[in-house]
Amino acid sequence: MKPRLLCPGPTPAPEETLLELARPVTFHRSAQFRAVVKEVTEDLGKVFGTKQPVMTITASGTGAMEAATSNLLVPGGKAICLISGRWGERWRGLCKAFGVTAIEITVPYGEAVPPSALEKALAEHPDATVVFSTLSETATGVVNDIQGYAAITRNRPQVLVVDGISGLGVMPCPMDEWGVDVVVTGSQKALMLPPGLAFIALSEKAWKVVEANYALPNPPRTFYFDLRKYRDNLKGNDTPFTPANTLVKALRLSLKRLLEEGLENCYRRHARMAAAARAAAQGLGMELLAKTPSNGLTVFKVPAGVDGQAILGVLEKEHGIRIAGGQDVLKGKILRLAHMGYIDFFEVLAAVSALELALPKFGHAVTPGEAVAACQKAYTATA
Ligand SMILES: *Cc1c(COP(=O)(O)O)cnc(C)c1O
Repeated sequence: MKPRLLCPGPTPAPEETLLELARPVTFHRSAQFRAVVKEVTEDLGKVFGTKQPVMTITASGTGAMEAATSNLLVPGGKAICLISGRWGERWRGLCKAFGVTAIEITVPYGEAVPPSALEKALAEHPDATVVFSTLSETATGVVNDIQGYAAITRNRPQVLVVDGISGLGVMPCPMDEWGVDVVVTGSQKALMLPPGLAFIALSEKAWKVVEANYALPNPPRTFYFDLRKYRDNLKGNDTPFTPANTLVKALRLSLKRLLEEGLENCYRRHARMAAAARAAAQGLGMELLAKTPSNGLTVFKVPAGVDGQAILGVLEKEHGIRIAGGQDVLKGKILRLAHMGYIDFFEVLAAVSALELALPKFGHAVTPGEAVAACQKAYTATA
């Protein structure tokens, strides 16, 4: 059976990227590797939409989230966490770990946090110095209005931090243009690379906060994640610690692919796949969880009385299709179908087709071909 990976991370990597990973290991303190670092840093700047240096850290995406928290805040500080799901909750968890008071602005799963809620929170907590947000809430499939948040924070002292881990490279989030202060992402979602790298960029405003924090008598407690080290080493196209250099060389090729397609085309392709996946809902007899859906994944609500975890098992064992279920309280209740990075329309079609085959086994009747046809129609309509 041919395995097909359609989870919202990790996602498949293109052939040229995988072939690069099969090459011999090389030494990283070399002119050749510095040239690679220079190139990927420039290309990452295009994806992030920033003139600031984009730093590459050997860690999963959470490493960059931790770096943002520990450098921008000191114990006793206060941050506003905009929470629309599990990944927004991770910001709250990071605040707790670093002794930061988290003001939680929470919406029910499936909803986005409206910018007006941020406006209100800032009025009530003007002493908060950081706002944590999530571009694409991968737990629920919701996209949040980052541009709306940035319009509020850009003329205030607060620093806006965005978890772009499943959104960057899928939907626009031009950091400098929108006035976003910090963007973090990881390698294994839309950037078409295996897990292992995290990326982060800071605006001038955010760097000032970081520098001021390190000048305090009680400075941030960091070593590996001291972002000043990454920034300063990058001036010589170098890294403070041993980088995952094989992954960085592979990243070069995935970024080339992305930029050759062009960011606008890439966003359009994701929008079309998303439109197709959403159109499948009716034919599958399922509702969408997200009120404002992300273009990187589509989340279906499992019909009442049907075991979502069991559906996943049938999809994988009988059809080789690996999609994701829900996490925590959403376990068994939702199905998450990714269409980001190196996943194409025909794989989305395959997954929808497999769902049509699998759902009747759980007493949930569907008309074969109906959802597939709806996908094709939506795909054509958005051409
Ligand atoms: C996947 C994901 C993360 C977690 O990243 P790790 O690489 O597992 O540390 C965080 N936020 C979002 C939005 C994600 O999709």
